[in-house]
Amino acid sequence: MSPSVTSASSIVRIVVAGGNYAGLNAMQHLYSSLLAVDPKAATNQRPNVEITLIDRRDGFIHCIGLTRGLTEPEFGADLWVPYSTVPWLQHPSIRIVSGTVTEMTPDKVHLSNGDSYGFDYLLVALGLSRFAPIGLRSSTKAEYVEEIAESYAKIHAAQSVAIVGGGAVGLELAADIKSDFPEKQVTLIHSRSLPVPGPFKDEFRNIVVDIMQDIGVDLVLGERVIAQTPESGDMSYDRTLKSSPEPELVGTMSTNAELTLASGRVIRADLAIRCLGTLDKRRVLQLPLASDVFGADGIAVKDTMQIDSEHYSNIYACGDICSRALVKLAGVGMYGAYIAARNISRAVLGLEKLEEGIRYPSQLMLLLGKDHFALQLGDEIWEKERTREHVHKDMGLLKCVEVMSLHKEPEYVSLD
Ligand SMILES: Cc1cc2nc3c(=O)[nH]c(=O)nc-3n(C[C@H](O)[C@H](O)[C@H](O)COP(=O)(O)OP(=O)(O)OC[C@H]3O[C@@H](n4cnc5c(N)ncnc54)[C@H](O)[C@@H]3O)c2cc1C
Repeated sequence: MSPSVTSASSIVRIVVAGGNYAGLNAMQHLYSSLLAVDPKAATNQRPNVEITLIDRRDGFIHCIGLTRGLTEPEFGADLWVPYSTVPWLQHPSIRIVSGTVTEMTPDKVHLSNGDSYGFDYLLVALGLSRFAPIGLRSSTKAEYVEEIAESYAKIHAAQSVAIVGGGAVGLELAADIKSDFPEKQVTLIHSRSLPVPGPFKDEFRNIVVDIMQDIGVDLVLGERVIAQTPESGDMSYDRTLKSSPEPELVGTMSTNAELTLASGRVIRADLAIRCLGTLDKRRVLQLPLASDVFGADGIAVKDTMQIDSEHYSNIYACGDICSRALVKLAGVGMYGAYIAARNISRAVLGLEKLEEGIRYPSQLMLLLGKDHFALQLGDEIWEKERTREHVHKDMGLLKCVEVMSLHKEPEYVSLD
């Protein structure tokens, strides 16, 4: 199903569903190749396109800084950059729609308010879902500032905090809480004997254990939580029902909690926060001829970032929603978005050959409080001082703002 290339009279409709690291970076590159003015051209003739960005939020959120955003709400507020402050998003050929996507069919994107948007090209960049407080229910910056203030108040009031789950998010949250509130008792419980699930070396995991102990986080490893009172919302969440609320509306924080471990040990904490992974968005994608395109790890995509189905060559996916990389990362999503946007632009401009992206090795950089970090890139574990050169005080916010041109006009890029 491939739409014909633009003619002078027909408008080509591009829909980008999801406007964070992947979707917004795609918007930037669509802008560069389809809307930006070519300074060398005699006339400013650009293709006749309408680019629609749909997101349930009204801005970009720098998720990488979120754990610290919960312990330092003033820093947290800066993490949200409203689309209305991004100059080039105001271009007349760009339409920004605030709404929740409920279904994507072969030619339309449907929203919860009943509206639908037809497309010639679709880029799916809806990410993954997380339960609150890391998953955010807010749709505006004002709501978000209130939301993180609520979470902060709970963290601030607790003398003891138990984090359940020793993945990247649990580790970073425990480290940020302990670093900002050294007087609190912070315990991290993880079911395996070492933290950091995924394709990483035990040597790396042991470095992380040492760092967490240096910071003063009490690690309880190889222990599974089998019961918790009071339960938090995610514990009874039905992951199969279509009618389940969005995970972001379901909390994982529980005050005055009692956690029973498989060994029989009981841990009491003023506040428990469960950081136990992500949920995918398979329920939104309804493509009858590609029902198998959603694998265990997300939407299967080709190196061109088209979904891996011969029937829908005009549908692309990038970022956490797709199965592009073993470790889901903002940078992987942004790179995939760059390839997808260039390929959609190539198709719109009638350029035959699509580009293929390369796959980068898995990596993980953990930011554990302000002074500790650990990085494994591919098989290599980096030295602390070498890693430090890549660590930013603002957890990479400004770098992201710059790379995605959120404060400046993206330059014209020719794809010829
Ligand atoms: C605490 C934390 C720390 C992290 N640290 C790092 C790090 O150090 N380095 C790194 O590279 N990565 C890190 N990540 C991972 C990184 O944030 C993700 O890989 C990245 O967010 C993926 O980008 P994305 O655009 O695919 O998805 P998202 O950033 O999740 O964006 C999805 C967008 O789609 C919108 N959306 C979703 N569903 C709907 C819907 N139904 N309707 C309308 N809009 C919708 C959302 O509002 C959002 O704007 C971290 C993540 C967290 C939570």
